[in-house]
Amino acid sequence: IKAESCGMVIFGASGDLARRKLLPALFELFRRQLLPANFFILGGARTEMDDDAFRRSVRESLAEAGSDSELEEFSGFCHYIAGSYEQPVLYEALKSRLAELEAGCLTGGNRIYYLATPPVLYPVITEGLGRAGLTSDAAGGWSRVVVEKPFGRDLVSARELDRALLRYLTEQQIYRIDHYLGKETVQNIMILRFANTIFEPVWNRQYIDHVQITVAETLGVENRAGYYDQTGALRDMFQNHMLEMLSLVAMEPPASFDGDRHRDEKVKLLRAIRPYSPWDMDQFLVRGQYAQNSDKNLPAYRQEPGIKSDSTTETYAAMQVMVDNWRWRGVPFYLRSGKRLARKVSEIAIAFKPVPHSMFAGLMPENLLSNVLVLAIQPEEGIALSMETKRPGPHMCMSSLNLQFSYRDVFGERSGNAYERLLLDCMAGDQTLFVRRDGAEVAWNVLDPILQQWQEETGSLCFYPAGAAGPEQAEALLAKDGRAWRPLGDR
Ligand code: NAP
Repeated sequence: IKAESCGMVIFGASGDLARRKLLPALFELFRRQLLPANFFILGGARTEMDDDAFRRSVRESLAEAGSDSELEEFSGFCHYIAGSYEQPVLYEALKSRLAELEAGCLTGGNRIYYLATPPVLYPVITEGLGRAGLTSDAAGGWSRVVVEKPFGRDLVSARELDRALLRYLTEQQIYRIDHYLGKETVQNIMILRFANTIFEPVWNRQYIDHVQITVAETLGVENRAGYYDQTGALRDMFQNHMLEMLSLVAMEPPASFDGDRHRDEKVKLLRAIRPYSPWDMDQFLVRGQYAQNSDKNLPAYRQEPGIKSDSTTETYAAMQVMVDNWRWRGVPFYLRSGKRLARKVSEIAIAFKPVPHSMFAGLMPENLLSNVLVLAIQPEEGIALSMETKRPGPHMCMSSLNLQFSYRDVFGERSGNAYERLLLDCMAGDQTLFVRRDGAEVAWNVLDPILQQWQEETGSLCFYPAGAAGPEQAEALLAKDGRAWRPLGDR
């Protein structure tokens, strides 16, 4: 990846995302000498600060990440501009500040605008930039805008947001970021499937029994109560990360790993998801919220600071997804994600069918453990394959073993942070790992009927003790098909 010279304007530079993710990722790229030689960061927000104060805050937030001299040198790239996002004067000031920095840093007029603000400001900032003439690819330089999730709250608002962005930008300038796509294991799904011959022949309804995708967090809402209570698990996790992972696991092979071929296949897959009808939602969907767990001293969601005491926001969702195409007809994809669960884990498990016939006396095919291929994403990135083997000795006794590969053991301590990779891709102009407009919209199309139904009938909400594996109803979702979730902990 060849990052081009550029300046990066971070709107919302005083916020949580900038402090916890963006600046650390940029700092790491700097340490690994992956930033372009000609580069600057221009933070922007309402908070009054000058360059020196911003540099001090950057050094403080990165204090553990590097040596004093590295922090000093990196903070030299950082500049700041204060102003109100609604005021045209901010964009006029930005224009002259950019001209001044570009002349000094020789970035050739190339600009990335990172919108790390509350989403209501995305159209406001884009309009401000557009009206000031800051979004046109003029004078040999390019302009790109990075938009953070959530991309709307439903299909209608997602389309409104797209229309607002497209008034001043082209789709080629918009980088919708889903940081899961920057994770090594998520990218490895494509390498595993399409750079090896042994998986693709069995990657279908003939051999795969079902797929489980899990993103479980141990944390509760933490300091994002206001945002989360308006959002819930379905919008926060399923619209983006969960459906993105599903589409990577299930899509047809793209002709090439380039932005549009790859994204065409993901969108095609999402379009093949069977819509839920109002009468089968109860059967295929689980909506949960964590309740108090006195044994573990964990509060209920409704007791968390900033959450309404009668909130019906889901902190957990599980769904059975059916993909109606030639490859996957009849294979269920079970997706679950929630907060305050027993263990932090993100993984995709491909469960293969049992052998068709057992030649071992007394053992039915279903008594032999089926192979499971696990793509582990968090907390450790790696791949595991379970299989049956013969236990040493005179008898034909079997043992199940796990072939395991851990990124850390093979490639060293660090597998790279998702934001680092995605920021580099944006600097290089590669949109492959960013969400395209139709991808975001088709994901909302899948979820909209569920969100509507859940809004109308709150009775479907069930509860699980904080720190447990999830609601009983989620177990029943698989048990009805004679299957079980991979263990997460006690309920
Ligand atoms: P944040 O801390 O709430 O806001 C970022 C900055 O925006 C604030 O420092 C504030 O700066 C400005 N701001 C906040 N509320 C405002 C308002 N009502 N009007 C005008 N300015 C306001 O947000 P964040 O957590 O950094 O997240 C930024 C974006 O990334 C959001 O869209 C979020 O959904 C998304 N995101 C965040 C995370 C995360 O881990 N934090 C993860 C994924 C996606 P000033 O007051 O100085 O202007």
